[in-house]
Amino acid sequence: MPIIIDHAPGQVLSFAGEELRHYLGRMLPEDAPVRVLLDVSPAPGSDAFTVDLTPAGGIIRGSSDRAVLLGVYDALRRLGCRFLAPGRENELVPPLAPAELRLRYGHTAAFFHRGVCIEGADSPENILSFIDWLPKAGFNAFFLQFKSPYVFLRRWFSHENDPSLPPEPFTPQDAEAVMDRAQAAIRRRGLMLHKVGHGWTGEALGYPSLGWDAEVRPLSERLRPLAAEVNGVRGLHGGVPANTNLCLSSPAARERFAALVTDYARSNPAVDYLHIWLADSFNNVCECPACQSTTLSDQYVELLNDIDRRLTAEGLDTRLVFLLYQELLWPPVRARLNSPDRFVLMFAPISRTFSRSYDAQAVPPIPPYVRNRITLPGDLGENLAFLRGWQKVFAGDSFVYDYPLGRAHYGDLGYVHIARVIHGDVRRLGDLGLNGYISCQELRAGMPNFLPNYVMGRALLDGGADIDEIIGEYFSAAYGAAAPQALAFLEELSALSRCDYVNGKGPRQDPDMARRMDRAQALCRTFAVPAPGPADGPAQAGFLTRLGYHAQYAARLAAALAALARGDGQAGARWDELCRFIGQGETAFQPWLDVYRVIDVTHNYTGF
Ligand SMILES: [Zn+2]
Repeated sequence: MPIIIDHAPGQVLSFAGEELRHYLGRMLPEDAPVRVLLDVSPAPGSDAFTVDLTPAGGIIRGSSDRAVLLGVYDALRRLGCRFLAPGRENELVPPLAPAELRLRYGHTAAFFHRGVCIEGADSPENILSFIDWLPKAGFNAFFLQFKSPYVFLRRWFSHENDPSLPPEPFTPQDAEAVMDRAQAAIRRRGLMLHKVGHGWTGEALGYPSLGWDAEVRPLSERLRPLAAEVNGVRGLHGGVPANTNLCLSSPAARERFAALVTDYARSNPAVDYLHIWLADSFNNVCECPACQSTTLSDQYVELLNDIDRRLTAEGLDTRLVFLLYQELLWPPVRARLNSPDRFVLMFAPISRTFSRSYDAQAVPPIPPYVRNRITLPGDLGENLAFLRGWQKVFAGDSFVYDYPLGRAHYGDLGYVHIARVIHGDVRRLGDLGLNGYISCQELRAGMPNFLPNYVMGRALLDGGADIDEIIGEYFSAAYGAAAPQALAFLEELSALSRCDYVNGKGPRQDPDMARRMDRAQALCRTFAVPAPGPADGPAQAGFLTRLGYHAQYAARLAAALAALARGDGQAGARWDELCRFIGQGETAFQPWLDVYRVIDVTHNYTGF
């Protein structure tokens, strides 16, 4: 008798049913008669599910179609499945005796916003397999930056930073086709779709904004008065529209901006959360007398109110996400949002340390705002002071937008430290008054493994999940019999690593860092990859192969970092050797290590 899944119509429930049938079909004996009902009992505002399964079948009920799918994957995990990384080949699906099909529990997600935002260089397959993995790992949202993810795809197809692969042509139209497939995959899983962010300011100045590229076309004289005046000049900041601010006391600039957002929201009803950000650059805000008389944050709030009025007039219920970042970290002095329910506060502590988790204890006062002379807060307490300031004027929905897997992770050679920092951060979200987390990150953040992303998803879904238990669950599944050796090796590498150094924080000459990296290099060069155990399968063999490659990659990165920190003149040559090595390995390890981004970060932030 086949496995029978009953459910109401709808593509998300159909997909949840196919997934449950697929995995149970692989786990149970062929003749097991199992009948499961997937059911929805609506409760907006949270992902909650109850699971009641016996050897004959039972019911998985969710607060939405998406919650049913999350419940299916969570139940499968509790039955022993492990979704260790994007891609079915990286999953463990153990056999299950019918008598072991017994689960009875209910769960409500600890935080509502649980998402990932695309960065790095990505193939269409990278994007689609990551979207497939999101609900398996407990996430419920995906953020395709800009109006289309062209820049991330183009970096891949042009093989930017990787001379070992010949560039392939790729157009913005090609990106639209990939985006359609990605959005269909998002809808099929009932995930929430976030879009845009940066780019509006450039668009208001007449440039289609699909990334951070510099423009060769001059700014039109008609639109020049809309650009911010900096040092007496109105023009593109560094030639990059996405980094250019507007003169927000210009009614024409505000009008154009608000009209662009409204047009976009009207023609893209599938977008659940539309991000309204200003320039991706700081200390280049307008210095005209009218702008000097107020603050950028006050102008931003008034602009958001303009947009809200237009959306309301058109009957559009798109949620708008506003950003606390750079100048906008300073709370507005006078302006307030008129319709708080329209908006979601997004706190982006991009300059924070990743040596430790958020700490809500010591929060200093906010420093005075000085136009075009700000420095970004490095300390966690300083960052949180800004959040507290905004929370005094806005009490609505909110989440943190953070970057452990977008830059800082390359500095943790073992990935265990950054996983622990992520776990600690998620545990403190409630104290910070934040209702979730969106990770701005490389999708190919998997060398040596996807533990940090896995911990993030588990902790966001289940606030009480213990970090050592999650690490144990992950390692025993990924490395099988070799789990103790793999963990000991990676824990030691993590203990020697310092994320912040790679992220460009602190002096470049640093004897302590040099000593640490010498030891890390020696550890990697002498590490003998354990053989798979007799009970291990292809998934574990893959993780062990990558552990061996990781030791070679980490040895070269550590050698380059040691040379830089010693200042002995060898740093450039060591870094070239690292770049050559990972370029040559990219075809074999493409889904696991983003070669473009390693090189970009170590060049632009670490200082090679
Ligand atoms: Zn101005």
